[in-house]
Amino acid sequence: MKHVVIVGGGFAGINVAKSLGNMKEVRVTLIDRNNYHLFQPLLYQVAMAALNGGEISYPLRKMLSKYRNITIYKGSVENVDLQNRKVQTDFGEISYDYLVLACGAKHHYFGHNEWENFAPGLKTIGQASEIRRRVMEAYEQAERTQDPTDQKKLLTFVIVGGGPTGVELAGSIGEMSRYYLSKYYKHIDPKQTRIFVVHSGKRILNTFSPELSSNAARALEKLGVQIWTSSRVSCIDRNGVQIGNERIEAATVLWAAGVRSCSIGKTIGFDTDSAGRISVTETLSVTGHPEVFCGGDQARFERADGEPLAGLASVALQEGKAIGNNILRDIAGKPQKPFSYRDKGQMATVGKNYAIVEKGRLKLHGLLAWFIWLLVHIYFLSGFKHRFFVLLQWGWSYFTFGHAARIVNREWRFYPEQVDTVKEEGDAEQQKPKSNGDDNLFQIDGETFHSFGRR
Ligand SMILES: Cc1cc2nc3c(=O)[nH]c(=O)nc-3n(C[C@H](O)[C@H](O)[C@H](O)COP(=O)(O)OP(=O)(O)OC[C@H]3O[C@@H](n4cnc5c(N)ncnc54)[C@H](O)[C@@H]3O)c2cc1C
Repeated sequence: MKHVVIVGGGFAGINVAKSLGNMKEVRVTLIDRNNYHLFQPLLYQVAMAALNGGEISYPLRKMLSKYRNITIYKGSVENVDLQNRKVQTDFGEISYDYLVLACGAKHHYFGHNEWENFAPGLKTIGQASEIRRRVMEAYEQAERTQDPTDQKKLLTFVIVGGGPTGVELAGSIGEMSRYYLSKYYKHIDPKQTRIFVVHSGKRILNTFSPELSSNAARALEKLGVQIWTSSRVSCIDRNGVQIGNERIEAATVLWAAGVRSCSIGKTIGFDTDSAGRISVTETLSVTGHPEVFCGGDQARFERADGEPLAGLASVALQEGKAIGNNILRDIAGKPQKPFSYRDKGQMATVGKNYAIVEKGRLKLHGLLAWFIWLLVHIYFLSGFKHRFFVLLQWGWSYFTFGHAARIVNREWRFYPEQVDTVKEEGDAEQQKPKSNGDDNLFQIDGETFHSFGRR
């Protein structure tokens, strides 16, 4: 039996695993930092308090439980010893015959990682919860303050990036403030909320046709969103953003401007592009390493015109299946099949009854497009129970304009966190945080911080 190690249980990783599940030729080990598969396309619904994290994530063990040949480990892969065919994890080394890298992507702050403190991105459940906390806190603080300048700043939201994620966030804040929150506050009028989308390109949603992109822009403007195109953010701090000579004072800034592949490709020493993606051959193996495959957001697979495939769930899913099949063909001594992507089109939503859908020459916008968006997302969500409850919840909030999950998480402990005092070699005494199982929390001088800012 050949041993296949898969790193990452996202769309690419689980589809490799499913293709190899219960195949007698292989045993499979899947390693992921999380014990669940996350349906990222609905993350903004968690950030905007429409869904809870558990409704868009599915335990990997349950998902793959019918495959007897698959072992799952929760852990992080830190490097790969290509010569001895071993992955180095935070819980030890694991040998492999075939390795699949499917680690996905993370935010790219274009050399300004310090901006993450002031402008969280949306890639994980932790980040979605933090965005929700910041948005809800802004309204709570605006209700308390008497100062009109502070109030204006608290009711101003800036979203950096006008791709699908930025548009979805802006549309949801616009809709929530106009149709829902306005009922619940006494001292502020949430309808006065100002929302800016700051986009460096000439038009938002620039992977769509110009016609659909301007339709979406008009739909956003109806929700009170101001779109600044050809505008590049030069600085972000706790009080807002700087765009050239212009300044927007805002208590909440969200980042939806750029992603780059996980850094492990570079750590291993593979050939990567400027976005950190590993270059792969037409069969999705890594150039010069036929036993190592890479798929999803981490891979750079070039189309015939030399352009890489976009970071989409449908790309990751199809690449995952193709990698699984190519591993089986390789074991059987058959030639591997070149990968060819079947274009499934693209879609983006603005609020709860407007979307744009584009597939080839088909271009739709409005309510019908939104229903297609809804059906596709429900269809691809894992697990019948999830589909049923999410549909139920959406149906409920559609008719009631409700955002059921407006809970703002706070620190869970009653007592201050204990801090270990450790002595580093040759160093003065240093305070080190005691691990509490939540990687997002750390302490400095007795105060608990979240990785996005002070609690
Ligand atoms: C907010 C948002 C909205 C989106 N909307 C859409 C949409 O509408 N339509 C669409 O097609 N696509 C959408 N996408 C893109 C889509 O979600 C991604 O293209 C897809 O998830 C990529 O799949 P993947 O398997 O490559 O990576 P991921 O799904 O990101 O999975 C990577 C996995 O690897 C794990 N991992 C990472 N590093 C390590 C490590 N070192 N060790 C162990 N495990 C590790 C992670 O925990 C994760 O589970 C959206 C993405 C986001 C963030």
